[in-house]
Amino acid sequence: MTVPTRRTHDLLILGSGLAGLRAAVEAARAGRGELDLAIMAKTQLVRAHSVCAEGGTAAVLRPEEGDSLAQHAFDTVKGSDFLADQDVVVRFVEEIPREIVLLENWGIPWSRREDGRIDQRPFGGHSFPRAVFAADKTGFFEMHTLYDTLQRYAGQITQYEDLMATSLLVEEGRFSGVLALDLVRGEFVVLLAKALIIATGGACRIYGFTTYSHTVTGDGMALAYRAGLGLKDMEFVQFHPTGLVPSGVLITEAARGEGGYLVNNRGERFMKDYAAKMMELAPRDIVARAEMREIEEGRGFGEPQGLGYVLLDLRHLGPDKINERLPLIREVAIKFAGKDPIEEPIPIRPAAHYSMGGIHADINGATEVPGVWAAGEVSCLSLHGANRLGSNSTAECLVWGRITGEAAARWAQKEKRAREPRRETIAGEMERVMRLFSARGKENPFALRQELRQVMDQKAGVFREEKGLEEGLGAIRQLKERFGRVGLADKSLVYNTELVGVLELENMLDLAELIVAGALARKESRGGHARRDHPARDDQNFLCHTLARKGPKGPEFSYLPVTITSWPPEERKY
Ligand SMILES: Cc1cc2nc3c(=O)[nH]c(=O)nc-3n(C[C@H](O)[C@H](O)[C@H](O)COP(=O)(O)OP(=O)(O)OC[C@H]3O[C@@H](n4cnc5c(N)ncnc54)[C@H](O)[C@@H]3O)c2cc1C
Repeated sequence: MTVPTRRTHDLLILGSGLAGLRAAVEAARAGRGELDLAIMAKTQLVRAHSVCAEGGTAAVLRPEEGDSLAQHAFDTVKGSDFLADQDVVVRFVEEIPREIVLLENWGIPWSRREDGRIDQRPFGGHSFPRAVFAADKTGFFEMHTLYDTLQRYAGQITQYEDLMATSLLVEEGRFSGVLALDLVRGEFVVLLAKALIIATGGACRIYGFTTYSHTVTGDGMALAYRAGLGLKDMEFVQFHPTGLVPSGVLITEAARGEGGYLVNNRGERFMKDYAAKMMELAPRDIVARAEMREIEEGRGFGEPQGLGYVLLDLRHLGPDKINERLPLIREVAIKFAGKDPIEEPIPIRPAAHYSMGGIHADINGATEVPGVWAAGEVSCLSLHGANRLGSNSTAECLVWGRITGEAAARWAQKEKRAREPRRETIAGEMERVMRLFSARGKENPFALRQELRQVMDQKAGVFREEKGLEEGLGAIRQLKERFGRVGLADKSLVYNTELVGVLELENMLDLAELIVAGALARKESRGGHARRDHPARDDQNFLCHTLARKGPKGPEFSYLPVTITSWPPEERKY
């Protein structure tokens, strides 16, 4: 085993999506040139999954036209099925308008109204059109605006690409650094820092039918879990109503925001039976369940047990609107489903889309380990509770990117130096990776990954029930056991994508176990977690966050109270 290269910085930002880039810009601003910063990603920096965000970023910009911070906050809390922490929600709605203006100042080409002001479109569960957007490529433009802005501080920040974190170095609850694999050189690197911001995104590549990029494998959550940090509310997974069949590529909610219809095989807009007021723009959990019911009860198309689907009809919007507002959607539908939405409806069904759960963090994004923050989809503050509203996630990344960037920079300014980890800790973690690298067992890691995804699709999807979840948990534990017998064919450490896949699989197996075990324990239906055997919300027993920790025999669960400041739980009707 080679001696790892060592690098020391004041503050390390792990992940370069919207949350990581926003944190980096803020840390550079707050550090005033005095801090040695670093940002790292397992891909190229601008290839983070955030570039795929399509439809918009929610913010109240027009109180004079009837929107209000209180309304945005209430929509978010109601959308969350009353599991969101309300102090977090209030801070969020207050801060996001400033972020929209900042991005504007940094050069983002927001779509505009005829009068030249920033345009906003309707999104599911929002009672006012408040999604700010750049056509249907919002994340792409946000990422590039932040990346460009970061280059102004290029002298202060080291930018590491193709550097995959394999372990957080935390000893007796104190953080010292990150162990990573330099994919290009095939070498270990130890990155020491006084402070760390984890911004590694969500975990839904655990599912087979998903809207996520292939790289979104929950690494940061799994690394934190193994390092002893708590993960919160992992059973809450969002299924987006419009995953394009058969690929799962996202058709943005903006397609419905712009006026698209959901239609069953009788040609009916079936949402009238599920959410008569908000119709297609009800929150995602409600629309996803409605679609599954239509499919299961024979009013869909295709195979009800396979990729059964319903239709999204955009034809009435007309070519001009589709080409101007939804150009990417048109291109994606033509390329991936062979259908031009100007001429015919497109096949869609619910697809795994967002991790509401994540690393347990407080309202400032601070984790349980001093000097370590979490921001963006990897974190659970909890802003989204049991169900996130569309366009609130990119917004969260911007708000808590800023908050954690500033807080971590201040911490790094005060701390004298990075801690020194024990040599045996680093050696132990390197050995763990090398054992996987040199594994010569019979199990094919790609097949295991495939099986895991099938299990998650079938047993922990839109609808769940005790028997299926128990079977799912059993299957995941068997996969974990078989993971001990994987074999790698690629013998080189240089750009070994097979090794990357195995490291990701190890992470995904840990998280899948948590999601399913957490879902089994939560015997109620709330937001994105719908139990057929417990169809009602149960505030008496489950108005609480689930906290999972790694125990000697598997995950151990405890429960935390929900912060309710202004809006007591009520029945959710749309
Ligand atoms: C197709 C799609 C469209 C969406 N559209 C919208 C939208 O319109 N509006 C909205 O609000 N939300 C949207 N969302 C959700 C939103 O895009 C994401 O929640 C958000 O972009 C996540 O950003 P992030 O910064 O937390 O993580 P990411 O953008 O996923 O970035 C994670 C970073 O961490 C790095 N990383 C991960 N693991 C490691 C490791 N082991 N070592 C080193 N680096 C690592 C990655 O390389 C990457 O740089 C959409 C989601 C999808 C799937």
